[in-house]
Amino acid sequence: MSTHPKRYTITAALPYTNGPIHIGHLAGVYVPADIYARYKRLTGNDVAFICGSDEHGVPITIKAKKEGVTPQDIVDKYHAIIKKSFVDFGITFDNYSRTSAKIHHDTAQEFFKTLNDKGEFIEETTEQLYDEEANQFLADRFVTGTCPKCGNEEAYGDQCESCGSSLNATDLINPKSAITGNVPTLKETKHWFLPLDKHEDFLKEWILKGHKKDWKPNVYGQVKSWIDDGLRPRAVTRDLDWGIPVPAPGGEGKVLYVWFDAPIGYISATKEWAAQEGKDWEPYWKDQDTKLVHFIGKDNIVFHCIIFPSMLKAEGSYILPDNVPANEFLNLEGNKLSTSKNWAVWLPDYLEDFPNQQDVLRYALTANAPESKDNDFTWKDFQARNNNELVAIFGNFINRVVVLTNKYYEGVVPKASEFSDIDNEVLAAIKAYPAVIESSIERYRFREASQELMNLARLGNKYLADEEPWKLIKTDEVRTKTIMFVALQIASALATLSEPFLPFTSIKLKKILRIALNNNVISTEGGTTNEESQKWSDISTKDILISSGHQIGKGELLFSKIEDKTIDAQLEKLEASKKANEAANKVIEPQKDLITFEDFTKLDMRVGTILEAEKMPKTKKLLILKVDTGIDTRTIVSGIAESFSPEEVVGKQVTVLVNLAPRKLRGVDSEGMILMTETPEGKLVFVNPDTAVKNGLQIS
Ligand SMILES: [Zn+2]
Repeated sequence: MSTHPKRYTITAALPYTNGPIHIGHLAGVYVPADIYARYKRLTGNDVAFICGSDEHGVPITIKAKKEGVTPQDIVDKYHAIIKKSFVDFGITFDNYSRTSAKIHHDTAQEFFKTLNDKGEFIEETTEQLYDEEANQFLADRFVTGTCPKCGNEEAYGDQCESCGSSLNATDLINPKSAITGNVPTLKETKHWFLPLDKHEDFLKEWILKGHKKDWKPNVYGQVKSWIDDGLRPRAVTRDLDWGIPVPAPGGEGKVLYVWFDAPIGYISATKEWAAQEGKDWEPYWKDQDTKLVHFIGKDNIVFHCIIFPSMLKAEGSYILPDNVPANEFLNLEGNKLSTSKNWAVWLPDYLEDFPNQQDVLRYALTANAPESKDNDFTWKDFQARNNNELVAIFGNFINRVVVLTNKYYEGVVPKASEFSDIDNEVLAAIKAYPAVIESSIERYRFREASQELMNLARLGNKYLADEEPWKLIKTDEVRTKTIMFVALQIASALATLSEPFLPFTSIKLKKILRIALNNNVISTEGGTTNEESQKWSDISTKDILISSGHQIGKGELLFSKIEDKTIDAQLEKLEASKKANEAANKVIEPQKDLITFEDFTKLDMRVGTILEAEKMPKTKKLLILKVDTGIDTRTIVSGIAESFSPEEVVGKQVTVLVNLAPRKLRGVDSEGMILMTETPEGKLVFVNPDTAVKNGLQIS
């Protein structure tokens, strides 16, 4: 691979269409991939940035079964949600396709046929786990059991999420069907296998020798341990009815394994895009002068570094990835992100709760990206990144420059006179920034790159603080003009260099400075002159980025402070998820010992109405209630204060056990008990008649 490839094919892991996108996906894959793609376009490269929905596989069929709909219903729903949220978040895929598209089915089948014709598969009849009751073979997620490598009792038939091992369903100890819970039997079935062992030498040569230096240590290490363990043939077909039919004799009732078809999705999405653009797709996948980069999370390393390259190599006409910069995992508030437990910040929710603040999340996720180890997202850190960096450094600097330029010079960039040593240092520093940021991006160190961008804004702030133009304007107008000219050069550099990281802010800032946007749309709102669009390389080659006499616009705040109450609301949302999980996991108590009818008739339960309520002093849980039981009005102390305020319960009709022997609670006599149960969120609810009835009526 030459250092200046002719074009870039950049892929981002195909999101699985059984739920929306969350911050873990964004931090692990989509934000770094988008930074890279935007940067490559900005530096004048030919880029195809490719993604799409991964719509096959077992979890979708399980979800469809549970919800009583078809798998197609599930994928249609989430494909639309995912696609829209990517657009709204500013992820600039050239094509976001889907694996249920015809072009993909055709491409994947053709790929399979080529390998099959070349004799690259082994056909084998083996015994597979079978659920007699569901009348179905159990592969992948249809079966759970104990991982033979680490002992995790909830490993899936294709992978253990605890240790990352890729598994075959028959490897599991104590397997159980995920459909019926039954212990599966073994039944014979024929499948096609890709003999990975046959590609071991090539993988050793290509990765272990060839990419020892340029692949991330976490990726290289995982691949090495895989290869060192010895590779085995992997089935590329499944007994399923949802997926791409196997195009070979004996393939009836079988589909391509989702991990065989999904990466081919990158190819079919490129084909689809090229057809729309009137381009030839093949150079993007077959020309040695194309740089192919796969952005993925660490759970996908084996598929992108071992299985897919073996497929490409076996096919023979494709290039191999130049790099696979996989990230580690992002946790949320100290716990593992989980779709099923709803422990996540969902992108559609974020976009709704934080309108026009896409860049804040992009920045927080990049500045804290799990590039070399797992990392934790906290709302407090998110708030601090916004308030202390975006607002206090970047936003503050731009605001000062724009406000002062408007105040002193009616928005016209002033003329510089002689530059001081400090001015020259600052101007030289600006020119050095593109190379510094570039070097980080080229090594896939996006958090470092984003910090360098912030350092340029820091430099601007420090320059203004040291030079104090707001003081100097009273004594030295000539010097003040030079200072403001220099500050405007920094602002102008920030407008372009921020584009990969803070794309929405970059556009806002270019509009304020009246620099033409990249797509050559010139912002002319009220302006008379316009700076031409600025290239990334201009920052290091041009002496003047924004010239004297150029009219800039009025200020507009780029970022605004995020208050504690906004963060608290998000933390409360998570707290509610946690409670709901706890409630969902609550064990249903076994039935108590039998009682006789006579025992039951000893309980005297009546309908009553709460007349008064007050909090028991110095307690959290207790309310003192006055209840009309139809027999009398009495005092009952009830442990419901965490679920209800006193005002909420007054007037409520409830069920009262009236003949419970009185008890003293905190010095108050309690004569009876109010019957309650609990919602999934852990909130208490009254057990009461669903229409108003007369107090004192018996419940029997
Ligand atoms: Zn394991």
